Amino acid sequence: MQPLVAVHYFHEIALKGGNRRMFVRQAAGNLRRAIVGTGSRMIASAEMSANLSYPGDERWAAPDGLKERLEHVIGVERFARAYPVSASMDAIREGVRELLRGRELPESFRISASRADKAFPVTSPDMNVQLGDMVRRETGMKVDLEQPGLNVHVLVRAGAAYLSLEEFRGLGGMPVGVSGNVVALLSGGIDSPVAAFQTMLRGCHVTLVHFHSFPLVAGTSREKAKELAEMLTRYQFFSRMYLVSLADIQKRILVAAPQDYRVVLYRRFMLRIAEALALEEGALALVTGDSVGQVSSQTLENMLAINAVMKRLPVLRPFVTADKEEIVRHARRLGTYETSIQPDEDCCSLFVPPHPVTRATPELAAAAEASLDVDALVREAIAGAERWEAKWPRPAGER
Ligand code: ATP
Ligand code: MG
Repeated sequence: MQPLVAVHYFHEIALKGGNRRMFVRQAAGNLRRAIVGTGSRMIASAEMSANLSYPGDERWAAPDGLKERLEHVIGVERFARAYPVSASMDAIREGVRELLRGRELPESFRISASRADKAFPVTSPDMNVQLGDMVRRETGMKVDLEQPGLNVHVLVRAGAAYLSLEEFRGLGGMPVGVSGNVVALLSGGIDSPVAAFQTMLRGCHVTLVHFHSFPLVAGTSREKAKELAEMLTRYQFFSRMYLVSLADIQKRILVAAPQDYRVVLYRRFMLRIAEALALEEGALALVTGDSVGQVSSQTLENMLAINAVMKRLPVLRPFVTADKEEIVRHARRLGTYETSIQPDEDCCSLFVPPHPVTRATPELAAAAEASLDVDALVREAIAGAERWEAKWPRPAGER
């Protein structure tokens, strides 16, 4: 029997009614992009699933091989190296026999049948019983539903059944691209890369903005931001990031505003600049890693005073009620944690007074920056921004 790779899309895609075709098209398109260079190709594409050719054991399991790629495709719920047989009980029985033949067998097993095609005459529980009886009789293995030594998956779709001994979980989520574009503020800290990723899981394509204070401080935060942006790119294939210096603005604030309002004013400028970039990019929202109460700039009062500068777009804050431990867990799973905890100096640590305001008001914040030409400063910062781009999978030779 020749194996192939059976891929199942995220269950929520099936609920999309009239939009389902668009969601499925995006899921299949993303899947095709994700497997470039793995030696596999798409051989069939259906409503909620796709079949890929199996590129051989080595290219399946290699670092950056097909299996690893599939584990990183948003919109894929699960996948398996599977053996296709005809959708009849006779063919399935014969296929299961062949799958087990010549294999060193453990003490116990279970059958995990599922009938995606409800027209197939045998129900999933009946398949479990019938195939389980057969395997028990013919091999002497015991049935163990809890901790089987071998789990034989049988999936019946219209026209074919698929047998496999191992299923892998994908990330789930909505295919990147179906929900439009957002602009995420990426600090180089722990929270913001994961916040950006959470919106990718809901189908958003993310453009990034990083603020630094070069040349007032060393430019290390920029390198870190690029490293994090590279990591995120593997989930959305292409990323653009704007690296914006806040140095001039910070110098003006230093001279013009009461010191306890500095951080709030830095943040107001960040949001203004990010919103202007977002509108240029056709993005529909901003994203930040804010979490209520985590640091002084994130009291509800300060968030209100900061958010007051937004003209049109909403600010998405995926971790608004999460605690730090939860965010750290996400960051470790995503693999950004180790990079995020590297020391750096971004713009927020510059000229920060010992007692920043924790209960700012929009009125006092506006008064604090009244002597600044806000629009001109925003325009200049954007004009001086560095534009950086990354692609995934990287063209051959760049790995
Ligand atoms: P993070 O771990 O993401 O830095 P944080 O807990 O340190 O978050 P803050 O420093 O208050 O919190 O930042 C809140 C949010 O503001 C960040 O999650 C990020 O979205 C945005 N932000 C802060 N600093 C920057 C920066 N230098 N460049 C871009 N965005 C930033
Ligand atoms: Mg931070």
